[in-house]
Amino acid sequence: MSSPSLVIAAERVIAEQGDLAPGVVEVHRGRIVAVRGGRPPRKARLERGFLAPGLVDLQINGCAGVDFVTLEDPGRLRPVRRLLLACGVTAFLPTLITTPLPVLRRALAFWREVARSGGAPRVIGVHLEGPYLNPDFAGAHPKEHLRTPDPAEFAALLDAAPGLVRLFTLAPELPGAEEVIRAARARRIVLSAGHTGATFEQALRAFRAGVRMVTHLFNAMRPLHHREPGIVGAALAADGVTAGLIADLVHVHPAVVRAAIAAKGWSRIALVTDAVAAAGQEAAAGRPVGTSSLAGQTVTVSDAPRLPSGTLAGSLLTLDRAIRNVVTLGVPVREAVLMASTVPASLLGRRDLGRIAVGARADLVLFDRRLGVRSVYVAGERVFHRARERTGIPSAATE
Ligand code: ZN
Repeated sequence: MSSPSLVIAAERVIAEQGDLAPGVVEVHRGRIVAVRGGRPPRKARLERGFLAPGLVDLQINGCAGVDFVTLEDPGRLRPVRRLLLACGVTAFLPTLITTPLPVLRRALAFWREVARSGGAPRVIGVHLEGPYLNPDFAGAHPKEHLRTPDPAEFAALLDAAPGLVRLFTLAPELPGAEEVIRAARARRIVLSAGHTGATFEQALRAFRAGVRMVTHLFNAMRPLHHREPGIVGAALAADGVTAGLIADLVHVHPAVVRAAIAAKGWSRIALVTDAVAAAGQEAAAGRPVGTSSLAGQTVTVSDAPRLPSGTLAGSLLTLDRAIRNVVTLGVPVREAVLMASTVPASLLGRRDLGRIAVGARADLVLFDRRLGVRSVYVAGERVFHRARERTGIPSAATE
């Protein structure tokens, strides 16, 4: 999957050391071997726009008409990979929501094979969201399949695909959750609190026990109250905790997105999509899509996918759009891009991904001046290219 060498120069390079304008990145055998400011050597052209680290999505349930937890045919991954690359995603964690245990076991075995077989974008593990979630904050997780934390059951589930689960979401206030947290930490799985009614105190206890993230901050959790700040207040206040955020501007009001980034700082917020099969489905199918599915449930598609009750059931978001959305709210391009690359990669301990620095893998995205995805590289190989700049996106070049 790697080409021998490559030089990419761009008007602005969003490098780990700071923005280089212009800047040059040299790649050899799939890795970045040099990053420097200044104009390119004579043979290389200076690309318009921003060269950024490849995007990393920690939470995606499906897209392009494909639902990840019920997927059994690897052939159906082709449109998924195409869509993700076109959106600048070079690595992702397929996210498996609550389903009966045999379905989860089958899904884990399926994604283990996909992860092993390589390809672009990279499948860097799985995010298991559930089944140990609080029924009062179930969101679109089917309540009948939620379970009480059970360390033995959890270990048996993980053994279906050793090493595959990299991120695990649970409600830390449930009885038995602390033992499951310990079991997950022993396997070096990153823990996230979500679909939770945790109070401020319960959340702080979970963070002390090793929970390092909250899943889709604000959504499906006890809301912030000024005398009982709950897990939202605890997450905003705790320095070592990263918050996942769905910036489709439907799940969280734009003013609250802005306030959360201001309160927590961009370096502790990971932009996630929480996308479901309906995301990009219209484009893949070539026709409007009225209904879609999430883990076998029918969802209607309007401003976002919803269950018949109106409950949000994931999003239609893509990660490049999330970046553009937060830029329209006044977040600098550099910070917006790093919230979708460096922050999620670092949370997983993947120092080789999500940054433009010597030694990192050459997973790169060239955005045009309007933050449309122009070219995408995985391991130094160009895997996506759009010949013309996208229109209809406001220019970010003059920030
Ligand atoms: Zn969720």
